[in-house]
Amino acid sequence: MKNIGMPPTAIPPQAVGCIGGENGGIIMNKTILVETSARHLHVTQEVLEALFGKGATLTNKKDLSQPGQFACAEKVTVVGPKGEFNMSILGPVRSAVQVEVSLSDARKMGIAAPVRESGDIDGTPGCRLVGPKGEVELAQGVIAAKRHIHLDPKTAEEFGVNDKQIVSVKTNADGRSLVFGDVVVRVSEKFAPAMHVDTDESNAAGLGFTAQGEIIL
Ligand SMILES: [Zn+2]
Repeated sequence: MKNIGMPPTAIPPQAVGCIGGENGGIIMNKTILVETSARHLHVTQEVLEALFGKGATLTNKKDLSQPGQFACAEKVTVVGPKGEFNMSILGPVRSAVQVEVSLSDARKMGIAAPVRESGDIDGTPGCRLVGPKGEVELAQGVIAAKRHIHLDPKTAEEFGVNDKQIVSVKTNADGRSLVFGDVVVRVSEKFAPAMHVDTDESNAAGLGFTAQGEIIL
């Protein structure tokens, strides 16, 4: 991610695929890493122990782009009226349980998940969580995460954007170039620059697990 915010002449070879396309020669001066989030859930310590047994802790399987965040070895079956998925927990534990799915996932489970920002779960549908040591009936917490960009304050300043600003992001995958509107910018010292989309959004834009996008103000 060292290329972010650099002048066009400094764009490394891996970003060159984002330049050109039908317009031939777009300058990507607000380039952002675009990562695809597969369905996953966040749990509280209480729910973790209900599902995995008393004293259970999360096992870091892989560090994620956001500092301190990691994919866990622990998996949970998330059950809706029509279907279920086995999902990884993302750690560390949080103050509220949140299940993040694509709208395709939600439809398969029979859950009307709304598009919400992370943490904004009041009035959202619930589901049943099944772990190896127990089950939990969630009253709320199933969302399709609103697409968003994480930025540290320094990069946000370089890009000229603020926390909670809504921007667009253009991606240029071969044959599926797309402009995402309604992308919310989140700025925190705890963040590293990355945009997060779900698997539906990623597939619509023909993205791989990671790609590059251009922020359009
Ligand atoms: Zn994110």
